[in-house]
Formats: sequence, C-alpha cells, structure tokens
Amino acid sequence: MFDTLSDRLATTFKNLRGKGRLSPQDIDDTLRAIRQALLEADVSLQAVRPFIAAVRERAEGAEVSKALNPAQQIIKIVNEELVAILGGETRRLRFAKNPPTVIMLAGLQGAGKTTLAGKLARWLKSEGHTPILVAADLQRPNAVTQLQVVGERAGVPVFAPEPGNGVGNPVKVAKDSIDFAKTKLHDVVIVDTAGRLGIDAELMKQAADIRDAVSPDEVLFVVDAMIGQDAVITAQAFMDGVGFDGVVLTKLDGDARGGAALSVRQVTGKPVMFASSGEKLEDFDVFHPERMAGRILD
Ligand code: GDP
Repeated sequence: MFDTLSDRLATTFKNLRGKGRLSPQDIDDTLRAIRQALLEADVSLQAVRPFIAAVRERAEGAEVSKALNPAQQIIKIVNEELVAILGGETRRLRFAKNPPTVIMLAGLQGAGKTTLAGKLARWLKSEGHTPILVAADLQRPNAVTQLQVVGERAGVPVFAPEPGNGVGNPVKVAKDSIDFAKTKLHDVVIVDTAGRLGIDAELMKQAADIRDAVSPDEVLFVVDAMIGQDAVITAQAFMDGVGFDGVVLTKLDGDARGGAALSVRQVTGKPVMFASSGEKLEDFDVFHPERMAGRILD
C-alpha cells in the first residue's frame, strides 16, 4: 500500500537535502510535487486542497527549528498533516451503557461486510466480549449461509431468521436479534445488512429502516479501499441515505495507492475506525492514523 506515493514523496524530500534554507521557489516546487503525488495516489481533490494549504502555511511560517534542517522540517510537517488527514487519533468503538451494544454494518455488495462482520466478532471476542452476528442480509440467497460459515470460524453465534418466521424481513430479524441478545446475555450485536452492486434508493431505505428499528450505537460504513476515489462517492451516498459514525476500509492488502484511506475522513468528516487487509479473520486491526502515516513516509 502507498507504494508509489511513498516513492514519490521520498524523491521529493531527497531534492531538499543539503539545502541550508528553503526559498519560496523550493517550497512551491515541493508542494507541487506532493500535490501531484497525492492526486496520482487517487486522493480526492477535496482532501488534497486543504492538505496542501496546511503544509504551505506551516512551511512558509516561522517554524524554525535549530534541531532540524529544512528537509527534515518539511517531512515533519507532512507527517503531522498526514496523521491529521487520516483522523488524528484512533477512534475507538463506543459501547452502550446498557448492553447490548448494537453495531450495524452498511455498504455495497462485495465491499467485504460479511467478512468484516466475522473479523469484528472475532476481535471483540478476543477482547472479552460476547458478540452475536445477525443475518439481516436477506437479499442474496447465500448471505445467511456465508455469515453462518464466518460465525463458525470466529466461534461466534449467528442469529438468522427461522424458516417461516422473518424470512424476507430483515427489519424484523434485526429487531428480534436485540431481544435474543438481551435474553442470552450477549453484550454486542453485529448486524450485517444487505448491499447492492450500486447505490440505489431501495437499498438505502432498507438500511435506514433497519437503523430505525435497532437504534445502533455505531453504524459502520464498510468500503473496499481498492475502488479509490469511488469510495468517497459511495461514502457520501451512504452518509445522505443512512448516515454513519465510522468507516471500515477493507481490502487494503490489494490497494497499492491509498487514495480512499487518505480521502474518506476529510470528505465525510467521519473517522476510519478499522482496517481489513486480507481474507483471513485475523487480517484485521484498529485503524491507527500515526502508523499509517509512518508507512507512507518510511
Ligand atoms: P459483502 O458482500 O459486503 O458481504 O462482501 P464479502 O464479505 O462477501 O466479501 C466479498 C469478497 O471480498 C469475498 O471474496 C471476500 O473473501 C473478499 N474480501 C473481504 N475482505 C477482504 C480483504 O480485506 N482483503 C481481500 N483480499 N479480500 C477480502
């Protein structure tokens, strides 16, 4: 991930090495190169603009440090602004005061929701929670079975519609799952919802109906990082149609450019909370802006 961006930035910074002080021209050239590198990494212009403006302001300002040479100073500023654009600090899950905590997953079909549901459940279990997975994706014939397989791998029970009861009604299934969790003392409910191949009104309405029925503590928007800037467009549509509290980036293992990771926070105002980077349930972590920025600049 970030392969080209890292290389491009490293070359840009190398050109500054050995300079005693930076002329306005040096700063202009450097910022132009950084801007270009970000755009080529498929970072949204809405994120690039404020990023460059912030770096410029600080680079041109009187941030004179005796300990750092000009190249190091620029790298420090870029690093700090990358951390900022990635969300600053890790945003942790908020748990309900009165369990169960309800986490709803929303996103397009194929984004990696079901896989993510299993990863999240496994991780929560390892943190001492007693989650259940809820099969509220009744759109795809295979979705319930797929979630059951994932649940088995994660060692977490799956709440699914009984034949003849709630079949075809994801809102009822989601609602019933909360009562089930209360009775069986599960402290976290993870609701997997249906996705479609594209953004459509019916999908948004169903997700919004489920949201209204279960009043989630966290709605997580799950998005495939490999779609780059399209992730931002999709995020905006879900923001308008359903609303969400945080983002989960999936398939980071296949994303060489990093555009989605660097854009989505700035464009939606919502933090990236988790990162998914493979097909195995262990390929999952809390999203750490500082570590991510470190990977770009290492
Ligand atoms: P859903 O339709 O949103 O529920 O998506 P799925 O969970 O079914 O995932 C769609 C495909 O992407 C499946 O083949 C998954 O194995 C794969 N997948 C999910 N997450 C990741 C990931 O982080 N990395 C990779 N390489 N593949 C993933």
